[in-house]
Amino acid sequence: MKMELPILSVRPNADARSARSPHAHTHPHAEPPLRRAPSHIRHLIDSFSRPIRDLRISITDRCNFRCVYCMEPDARFLPHAELLSPAHFARLAKICTSLGIRKIRLTGGEPTLRPDLPEIIRLIRDLAKPDEIALTTNGSLCTDQSLLTWKAAGLSRLTFSLDAVDQSLFTSTTRSNSSAAEVIAAIRRAQSAGFSTIKLNAVIVRGLNDSQILPLAQLALDLNIAVRYIEYMPLDEAHAWNRDKLVPAHEILSTIQSRHPLTPIPSPDPSSTSENFLFSNPSTHAPSASVGVIAPVTRSFCNRCSRLRITAEGKVRPCLFSINEWSLRDLLLNHAESPDSDALIAQRLIDICWSKQAGHTINADSFQQPARPMSAIGG
Ligand code: SF4
Repeated sequence: MKMELPILSVRPNADARSARSPHAHTHPHAEPPLRRAPSHIRHLIDSFSRPIRDLRISITDRCNFRCVYCMEPDARFLPHAELLSPAHFARLAKICTSLGIRKIRLTGGEPTLRPDLPEIIRLIRDLAKPDEIALTTNGSLCTDQSLLTWKAAGLSRLTFSLDAVDQSLFTSTTRSNSSAAEVIAAIRRAQSAGFSTIKLNAVIVRGLNDSQILPLAQLALDLNIAVRYIEYMPLDEAHAWNRDKLVPAHEILSTIQSRHPLTPIPSPDPSSTSENFLFSNPSTHAPSASVGVIAPVTRSFCNRCSRLRITAEGKVRPCLFSINEWSLRDLLLNHAESPDSDALIAQRLIDICWSKQAGHTINADSFQQPARPMSAIGG
């Protein structure tokens, strides 16, 4: 079935786009110099004294959706041979937890496309022993069996991406053959499989799915889960982001409050990206239902950032909006695993974190969108 492309904005020129294909990152180019951390620094912290405790690993850049604010219909992917193995991910995770990482989130592309996902989860659980392992998924491949297998392997948290409850909007947004009903059914299956803290993320784009703000809030009540609305960010493959399409957090909240009075929930985690709210008139069936806004553009949380990212081919990005990234591939693939080579990787990670920028510059005239799209970074 031919998917009609919703007009988000003017398509960028081919040259600009091809220079930004995921492959663009595999072509070796001079890595920027790293700032050496002071010798007494033996854990992950940046030069702004922000401790780095959360690791996000994109285990693949492939996806079975083509969300219009993220990936082009004819997106190209890294060759399978360039994706790190479960053992590589687990080794990096082990070194990272030895340096202070506590939480690990597996992302993509769509991480459930990796048939070795259970092995990745299990090896990270057994070798790195983080406080928790979480997964972000579009929910289209979450069967009863796979959910039970991931849970048994050590997965503790699940976040589903769903930008529309309305099926035609779901289709025009994701350009996939899946359905909103399938994702909602996957959430129910995850609840039956024993996953307690389930969240649902929705990216809101004006003129595309902003009509879904209230239906998604109702879904939070119906499913008794947390729905978090994410402001549209300039991380799309086409570099077509347009501020006019941004629905700011205050507008999302006032739309919800037009129907549901909300009560703010203080966040236990100082580095949390989400501002959360309980429904003031809680229905008896949805005691855990809540809504939240993740507002990187209008309510930046960079000053309390605790995140580090590793890509599927082994590049390290200290910030989601890093223009620079540093590779660990050589140390991982061309040096036998040993305490010495682990120490080299650890020192490189310490220096990369020390080189972390203060934050994104989306609101500055000097803003430069990273070449690597969100689909190859992983949220
Ligand atoms: S933009 Fe960068 S510094 Fe800011 S919160 Fe995101 S990852 Fe952290």
